[in-house]
Amino acid sequence: MCHALLQDPKFFRLLLRIDVELADEVRAGGCACGCVLHRAKYPRKPKGCPAEFRSEFEWRFSFCGNRCRGRTTPMSVRYLGRRVYLGLVMVLVSARDVGQTPAAGRLCAALDVPVRTLRRWRNWWTQQLPLTAFWQAASARFMPPVATEHIPASLLERFVGDAADVLLRLLVFLTPLTVGPIALSEGC
Ligand SMILES: [Zn+2]
Repeated sequence: MCHALLQDPKFFRLLLRIDVELADEVRAGGCACGCVLHRAKYPRKPKGCPAEFRSEFEWRFSFCGNRCRGRTTPMSVRYLGRRVYLGLVMVLVSARDVGQTPAAGRLCAALDVPVRTLRRWRNWWTQQLPLTAFWQAASARFMPPVATEHIPASLLERFVGDAADVLLRLLVFLTPLTVGPIALSEGC
């Protein structure tokens, strides 16, 4: 997996464009109660985000019903739930066997990812994700089954294309986890 993507302006623009499309779709669909959705973005402080994209990645799209005041938040390829690191950082760093190679250690240090955070991510990928209703339904498409003890590396292998395609497809695959009752909890 190519870590150049963590600094690739084209990739960041693509992620933003997809989030804009996901948000437009949700807004066009209106509120579940029938009222009109107004913009009500969530502020974010994304870690692992290059400075040049910070201004556009400092908030997540969300809407508020003009009558019911209910929140509707679209799926996202930028944020994996409410975690403080960008989704692509969580995927790329977790996919590396950090500690085993100097390059992997440097990547963690460069992105300011503490070892305990990485351990928590590993636990989430390999222990918690496989238990979700999302995974139990969505993983059925992979044959032979994905080795859950090696997610996300073993999951990345199932998508085809160049490094950007593969990462993007994985982030799109995970989008159902970024909204609703199975949204990830706060914390790095
Ligand atoms: Zn409403």
